[in-house]
Amino acid sequence: MAGDIARGARLELRDLGKSYGGLKVLADVNLSVNPGEFITFLGPSGSGKTTTLNLIAGFVDPDAGGVMQLDGRDLGGVPANRRDIGVVFQNYALFPHMTVRANIAFPLRQRRPRPDADAIDRRVNEVLALVHLEALGDRFPHQLSGGQQQRVALARAVVFEPKLLLLDEPLGALDKRLREALQMELRRIHRELGVTIVFVTHDQDEALTLSDRVVVFREGAVEQIGTPEQLYDNPGSEFVATFLGDSNIF
Ligand code: ADP
Repeated sequence: MAGDIARGARLELRDLGKSYGGLKVLADVNLSVNPGEFITFLGPSGSGKTTTLNLIAGFVDPDAGGVMQLDGRDLGGVPANRRDIGVVFQNYALFPHMTVRANIAFPLRQRRPRPDADAIDRRVNEVLALVHLEALGDRFPHQLSGGQQQRVALARAVVFEPKLLLLDEPLGALDKRLREALQMELRRIHRELGVTIVFVTHDQDEALTLSDRVVVFREGAVEQIGTPEQLYDNPGSEFVATFLGDSNIF
């Protein structure tokens, strides 16, 4: 897709918090993600990773006072489908009654003005090639393996050239071998598109392998931010040391 490369956006989060029924589940998240950066939210289950992603995506609203900006544009109050953010969430399944091509074309058909049929076809072909699924465009989701389905979900998320991609445990349900193959593919796609990626995982090895920087979450707050090497060599707390200590990457 030479000539078609989207530069990633800068993402700014300031004092972002979320309460449910008076209970604070996320407190004062501050974070600057650089254009084109691959950043990973890492932490145990329940530490606030998905909540933060949901706030960025626009699926839930933050508490008053928090600021979210994409390339300097305020996201607060902007509906999810107007944020130009691609998402692959575990609960954001493919449409079972649509072919692979129709699934991928779906976000383009929702655009106003809607691109013409030829333009949609061309773009669907491009992203099918990007995820190496050219031969499977006419299949239905149930005729695909789990890994292939995830690649379709990824193609659908990037089809409208988002400048930010949110990936919530996209490889979580796959076996180890397939997971590692798709990690390589994700790195290639990140390189080719230049898109900013926020990736969520509870898997230390995955975080340390894939990321430019890692944000460690603990009990609804950011515990430490750093490159994989910084976190591994200079953990800021016993919690980070213990959590990363289980890794055998370095
Ligand atoms: P993680 O993604 O790190 O596993 P989550 O962001 O999903 O963590 O959850 C953080 C906390 O927020 C958890 O304690 C969870 O129970 C709580 N939580 C998430 N969504 C809701 C909700 N809709 N209502 C009440 N509590 C919620």
